[in-house]
Amino acid sequence: MKKHNFAAGPSILSPYTIKHTAEGILDLDNTGLSVMEISHRSKEFVAIMDETVQLFVELLDIPSGYSVLLLQGGASMQFCMVPYNLLKTKAAYLDTGSWANKAVKEAKLFGEVDVVASSKATTYSYIPRDYSIPGDADYFHITTNNTIYGTEIKEDMDTPMNLVADMSSDIFSRPIDVSKYALIYGGAQKNLAPAGVTFVIVRDDVLGNMERDIPTMLDYRTHIDKGSMFNTPPCVAIYAAMHTLRWYKEQGGVAAMHKFNVEKASILYDEIERNPLFTSNINNVDDRSIMNVTFVMKEAYKEREADFLTFATSRGMSGIKGHRSVGGFRASIYNAMPRSSVEALIGAMQDFEKSL
Ligand code: PMP
Repeated sequence: MKKHNFAAGPSILSPYTIKHTAEGILDLDNTGLSVMEISHRSKEFVAIMDETVQLFVELLDIPSGYSVLLLQGGASMQFCMVPYNLLKTKAAYLDTGSWANKAVKEAKLFGEVDVVASSKATTYSYIPRDYSIPGDADYFHITTNNTIYGTEIKEDMDTPMNLVADMSSDIFSRPIDVSKYALIYGGAQKNLAPAGVTFVIVRDDVLGNMERDIPTMLDYRTHIDKGSMFNTPPCVAIYAAMHTLRWYKEQGGVAAMHKFNVEKASILYDEIERNPLFTSNINNVDDRSIMNVTFVMKEAYKEREADFLTFATSRGMSGIKGHRSVGGFRASIYNAMPRSSVEALIGAMQDFEKSL
């Protein structure tokens, strides 16, 4: 049976990425060696690293004065690397979900943290808009897409502050104006590659202003100086990322991905609105994520949630159970998710409705 992978992360990758990565694992470009076993200093791997970084620059239109780093440690490591490198006295954070909350917790180890607004009291069901950012904060941190709750900040914010964004679950889903950010980071395991590589896009002039000593591995400048090759990089994950980015380019870049993502998300949200069994838990339509579509069963059908899960699973849907803190369902429809899989989920929702 065809499986439709709606998992939140690690998550669906394009068949292009999987096929080409698998080929390179068996034999990298007729070298007779696997990409898993070649030196990261070999000319073959250096070319892979260079092309991956170049594709980041090209696809996201990254201006000069920024560096692209491919590191390890996951987005979670960035929760501490960001304040280590940027927080002198005070930072501002927008609390839109438990990942944002975890970032706040780490930042508090380095200085004062002003949480400018939080939607925690309503299980993060909206993006707060009414807040002010203290002018003396060293940076303002946001999480653009809240993977667990299905909310998303879909526009690049205008702020005179150094804006830092966790884009783990929506990078490459839409065009972004990188010049509005001081630093963007994320884990790869949604729109980029298998887990293991973490990207950082940083404006060089925000670095080097700290009085504290920063451990070598946690200092962005170490990795900038060495082109992300200070130590052994996660070679296979970077190789897979390169293929994903080649595929995005072939598809027409991030603008084309965005159009495609908006279409997929809107047919699914339309069905959630239409189908009398389901409802969205995100009231403000503007806040609804185009990457993670969360929904629940209406009060009258609440006890049928487990039945729908079994029904949808029997039709090939995988990974649609909502996060335990939200309940209901979550369909993660990242860039690699074909429209036909979203249609299959919609079909399951309609057939379940008819079966009642
Ligand atoms: N931020 C966001 C928005 C996430 O979705 C996740 C993981 N799903 C993380 C941070 C943590 O990423 P990692 O597992 O790479 O540390």
